[in-house]
Amino acid sequence: MRKLFLVIVCVALVGCGGQTTDESATEVNPFFADYGTPFNVQPFDRIDEAHFVPAFEEAMTRQNAEITAIVDNPEAPTFDNTIVALDQSGELLGEVSRVFFALSGSNTNDELQGIQKEISPRLAAHKDEIQLNPGLFARVKAVHDEREALDLNREQLFLVENFYDRYVRNGALLNDEDQTRLKEINQRLSQLRVEFSANLLAETNGFKLVIEDKADLSGLPDGVIATAAGKARREGLENAWVFTTHKPSMLPFLTYAENRDLREQLYTAYTVRGNQDNEYDNKTIVAEIVNLRVEKANLLGYETFAHYTLEPRMAGTPENVYKLLDQLWDASLPVAKREVQAMQAIIDAEGGGFELAPWDWWYFAEKVRKAEYDLDDNELRPYFELNNVRDGVFYVANQLYGLTFVELEDMPKPHPDAQVFEVFEADGSHAAVIYMDYHPRESKRGGAWCGRFRSQNRSAGVEVDPVINLVCNFTTATEDTPALLSLDEVETLFHEFGHALDGILANVTYRTGVRSPDFGELPSQIMEHWAMAPEVMKVYAKHYQTGEPIPDELIAKIEKSSTFNQGFIQVEYLAASLLDMEYHTLTEPTDLDINAFEQSYLDEIGLIPEIIPRYRTTYFSHITGGYAAGYYGYVWSGVLDHDAFAAFEETSLFDQKTAQRFRTEILEVSGSKDYMEMWVAFRGREPEIGPLLRNLGLQ
Ligand SMILES: [Zn+2]
Repeated sequence: MRKLFLVIVCVALVGCGGQTTDESATEVNPFFADYGTPFNVQPFDRIDEAHFVPAFEEAMTRQNAEITAIVDNPEAPTFDNTIVALDQSGELLGEVSRVFFALSGSNTNDELQGIQKEISPRLAAHKDEIQLNPGLFARVKAVHDEREALDLNREQLFLVENFYDRYVRNGALLNDEDQTRLKEINQRLSQLRVEFSANLLAETNGFKLVIEDKADLSGLPDGVIATAAGKARREGLENAWVFTTHKPSMLPFLTYAENRDLREQLYTAYTVRGNQDNEYDNKTIVAEIVNLRVEKANLLGYETFAHYTLEPRMAGTPENVYKLLDQLWDASLPVAKREVQAMQAIIDAEGGGFELAPWDWWYFAEKVRKAEYDLDDNELRPYFELNNVRDGVFYVANQLYGLTFVELEDMPKPHPDAQVFEVFEADGSHAAVIYMDYHPRESKRGGAWCGRFRSQNRSAGVEVDPVINLVCNFTTATEDTPALLSLDEVETLFHEFGHALDGILANVTYRTGVRSPDFGELPSQIMEHWAMAPEVMKVYAKHYQTGEPIPDELIAKIEKSSTFNQGFIQVEYLAASLLDMEYHTLTEPTDLDINAFEQSYLDEIGLIPEIIPRYRTTYFSHITGGYAAGYYGYVWSGVLDHDAFAAFEETSLFDQKTAQRFRTEILEVSGSKDYMEMWVAFRGREPEIGPLLRNLGLQ
């Protein structure tokens, strides 16, 4: 029955599409034809900027027709003809969106940015038309009302409840006037988010520290100097060295450069991004976003935006979030203060004659690290050649879940720099395709992330295999050395690959799932534990020249230093998390002076002047994107990942029973089940904070 229904819809759609779209565009647009690519991956090599707007338009037209068919169905609403049909609708829109937004993040240009500005509000309006369609909601509600009597399985019941809650949370129960206002707010929010990102990218690319006097390089390791020289040459500068506010360029400079003034210049350039009262200023944009969000929450009957957004997450309420953040803040702040004292002692002993400032932290922390832990980043990097680390990631996935990886040549790629792998299950069957794109470029936003070009599902009765997209901003190769990663970058690759595994091992029926940062960082963060496990390091951390595995003595130093600088790491992160919550627990729109608001709040919580939050408001893209009132999610997931990894420590590093349970109870069902139920099914009890506090030395 379901198949027949779909065929009819498709026929109707071809007719619709023909009437409303430019015929010639339809003929050449790769989104409209069979891709004819290996694994049906999107044909990146044939997609160009001009294809996106017509593809988005056609995709929205198709989904509208699908929705109309659901609403106009003369049969009474059923799970299949309403919920499943809804889950299946918008397939083309998903295809186009995933490609477009992936490229906007990792390979953008003026044209794509222009399209993003144009299309984002239209997509928001399209989504609102569906979410606020009264006929559609009536059918969803009818199925929801009788769900207990429908003999649905657990996953189906969850899907019905998820759809119903989603509609209510998106305003389905509001009156016409409020719905109209809600649509306006959503439109405006979508525009503002795009503007914020474009400004941030311009500001990040807009600053370059150009060094022409060799003396100013004093303290910097050869590899860092070579990278900066290469960057200068690419900019057409001879006998010069260029540093930027991209982290792989900035952090080594802050860690090693003896010239304190230049450290200040570079770090300040980083922290004032979006806050320079120029055309790229983000202050009024954030203020408007925050105010529109609280207005939206109030409209929907919630006290604050945080109450609204936390409701479907594991944390549930702002009170629960604050309970965790406050506990950790109180534990971390004294540790950070002790770290300041230790560094100030070094400054004084050297006769520095100044107080430690934020741009000094990395430099003196590195001295502490060398003095107390005898650990030198430069000593480590040769053991972390990028491809070796990647093989280490693959090794862990193999030991835990039996997965294997084969590099694919001649594949369409979202960017020529990306590597592509086919992933196989232990029985040799195809599991997924994964793209890995490692290094910074001006067309890429900062940070590291893992997205999906396609998510696993079998909503339409056929198994759809995942296509994963992992993107980083790692240290690049120089003319003399391959890409040698820092310890942080090693952890990041394992982290992002954990997100990839969440996608690769998904085993759900429906497309529509629930995603939440407070649980969503569990699969990623748990991988960092294996990255640092000595047995695993011995496998992947091989010297890039000699092939010698990392010596025990270095591993011991890494282990010993695992609590090094934790006061800073936690305080820097928690200050940003608390700031995120502070913005989103406003109870009504207010006249927001962003700098004053930020400063007075940070003073109130007692942030020390030597630390600037990991993100200041004007470049805190997590909170303008999907992690609004959600940046706490990393540490909430932190409680979970330390507690989950303890289950392996209690058995063995690759204990097959525990791995199997993690796979079936967490990774396979992710998004299709209540989070606490998932957790308890894996761990046999509710989460405990003890392992996190112990491992971070905060107890
Ligand atoms: Zn993550």
